[in-house]
Amino acid sequence: MKLLEEMIIKYGKVYPNDVLKIDSFLNHQIDIKLMFEIGKEFKRIFNDCKPDKILTIEASGIGIATAVSTYFDYCPVVFAKKDRALNMFNETYQSKEISYTRGSTKLIEVSREYLSENDNILIIDDFLANGEALNSLLDICRQAKCNVLGCGIVVCKTYQPGLKRIEKLGYRVECLAKIKSMDNGEIYFE
Ligand code: 5GP
Repeated sequence: MKLLEEMIIKYGKVYPNDVLKIDSFLNHQIDIKLMFEIGKEFKRIFNDCKPDKILTIEASGIGIATAVSTYFDYCPVVFAKKDRALNMFNETYQSKEISYTRGSTKLIEVSREYLSENDNILIIDDFLANGEALNSLLDICRQAKCNVLGCGIVVCKTYQPGLKRIEKLGYRVECLAKIKSMDNGEIYFE
């Protein structure tokens, strides 16, 4: 997506451990116009899909998924929660994720109330790196016996293992910006 790539080049900053910061328009301050362009682009790509729900993970996924939902008949957005005190084991689907930016293992969870058997799910997230977050969301969908239509990722670092890992599992993954390297702070797209 050309506009997204231009914004990444203009405002993106490369940090140690291959972390790309795009806080000025996606992960902290949000450019709403861009967000709806992202929604429109995912609609174009997944035009053959009719999701019952969009599944994402807090926090950055929520804004993106909300914009995407407006192009899919305002279907509900469900987001996996992180870091909650887990005292309701029977009421949630849970999965473990190794957080890319924090390096620690996290439990993510979704209430059983909001995912039903045979729900058609479109998964949306901001970044794909090692595929941990996406794999956990897919695990939750498996537990809930949902049907995953595809995964929409805003920025994928294709030189990291996540994309191949998830595609190998047989899932459709569509990425709006594919970064092939970030050596010496220079960002190159595929
Ligand atoms: P993965 O689980 O695929 O290793 O990493 C994806 C998750 O880690 C995303 O949900 C995102 O929050 C975070 N992440 C991974 N790489 C980056 C990055 O380069 N920049 C930012 N801002 N977040 C990232």
